[in-house]
Amino acid sequence: MSDYRGKLLVIGIGPGTREQMTRRAEAAIAEADTVVGYKTYLNLLGDLGPGKTVIASGMTEEVIRVQQAVDLAEEGRRVAVVSSGDPGVYGMAGLVFEILRERGWDPAAGLEVEVIPGTTAANSCAALVGAPLMHDYATISLSDHLTPWEVIARRVAAAAGADFVIALYNPSATRRKEPLAVTRATITRHRPGTTPVALVHEAYRLGQRVVITDLDHLLDHPVGMLATVIVGNSQTFVYKGFMVTPRGYAGKYRLEKGDAGQ
Ligand code: SAH
Repeated sequence: MSDYRGKLLVIGIGPGTREQMTRRAEAAIAEADTVVGYKTYLNLLGDLGPGKTVIASGMTEEVIRVQQAVDLAEEGRRVAVVSSGDPGVYGMAGLVFEILRERGWDPAAGLEVEVIPGTTAANSCAALVGAPLMHDYATISLSDHLTPWEVIARRVAAAAGADFVIALYNPSATRRKEPLAVTRATITRHRPGTTPVALVHEAYRLGQRVVITDLDHLLDHPVGMLATVIVGNSQTFVYKGFMVTPRGYAGKYRLEKGDAGQ
C-alpha cells in the first residue's frame, strides 16, 4: 500500500527567482509529478522539467486549488503546492492542514505531508536594505480579505506601542489605500516622524524597487500589492543608505576597531 501513498509537498520558493530557493525546495519540485500554484509563481520558476502536470490558477482560487491538490495526493500522486516566500507565512500551508482536518486525515494511514520552508518577504526585503530586523519584530498583514479590519488595527496599535519593528505584508492594493494611511497614523502616535521606513517592491524579481524613507514621508511614495513595508523601532537608524536596528552592542561594548573591551 505504501507504494501508492500520495504526498503533498507544500513548498516555499522564496521571494523570487530560482536562485533564492533552497535545495530542498528545488528537489521537492523535481520529485513531484504534479505542481499546483499561482501563475505568477510558476512563471518565476521557469522550466519545471519534463513529464509534470502543471495546474496554474489565478489569485482568488486558493481553496479550490488546495482541495484539488489534496484530491490528487489522495489518489497517490506526489503533488507540489507552491507558495511564494514561506508557505507557512500567509501562504498555503495552513489551508492545507485545515482542509486535511475537515477530511479527517490521519497521517498514519493517509497521504504524507511535508512543509518545505522558504525565505519569507520580511527577511528577503530586510536583507536588501541592511539589517532592520535585528531586534524583536512583528509581521502584520494589512489585507482585510480574511481578517476583520478591527483585529488588524488592534495588532498594529499593540506592536507600535510595544516598540516592535513592524514588517507590513499586503500593505495596499489599487482600491485599498486607507489601511496603510491609518496604520502610519497609528504608529506615528508612538514613534517620531523621522523613524526609518523601507519600501521594498518585488524583492529579488525583475521589478525590484527599494526606497528608504521615514514615517513622515511614507505616503509620498507609491506602495503596491507586491511591496513589503518595514517600519523601524525607536532605535533604528539609516547609515549610508542602509537601515539598521541596533541589537545593543554599542551600549555594552566599544565598537571601535581593535577595541574589544567593555
Ligand atoms: N508567503 C509569502 C507571503 C504571501 S502574502 C511570504 O512568506 O513571503 C503576499 C505579500 O507578501 C505581498 O503583498 C507582499 O507584502 C509580500 N511579498 C511577497 N513576495 C514579495 C517580494 N518578492 N517582495 C516584496 N514583498 C513580497
